[in-house]
Amino acid sequence: MKNYTALKAKLESKLQSLLEREGDIENVLGDPGNSDWEENALEMENDETWLGIGELTKNEVHQIRQALDRIEHGKYGVCGKCGKDIPSERLELLPWTTSCVSCS
Ligand SMILES: [Zn+2]
Repeated sequence: MKNYTALKAKLESKLQSLLEREGDIENVLGDPGNSDWEENALEMENDETWLGIGELTKNEVHQIRQALDRIEHGKYGVCGKCGKDIPSERLELLPWTTSCVSCS
């Protein structure tokens, strides 16, 4: 089994910053809004953007948690489709990936 300590640290710090971002987004969305009509309309548009970012963030958090889980269980770095090792260069770029280049 390979040593993924460095990658694990990388994933954990990424997870941390994503969770912080998620908190920020919730703060923005939880804002009761402005009484001024025009600003309210603008804010709604912003809310939609924030919701989109929120969704993306949630997905990323999910993927990173799964990657950390696979590291825990010694299943990390193996393609979920063909069972081959995922090259470390690919893991460096996409640490949460679950498939090799030919299967993705
Ligand atoms: Zn594969």
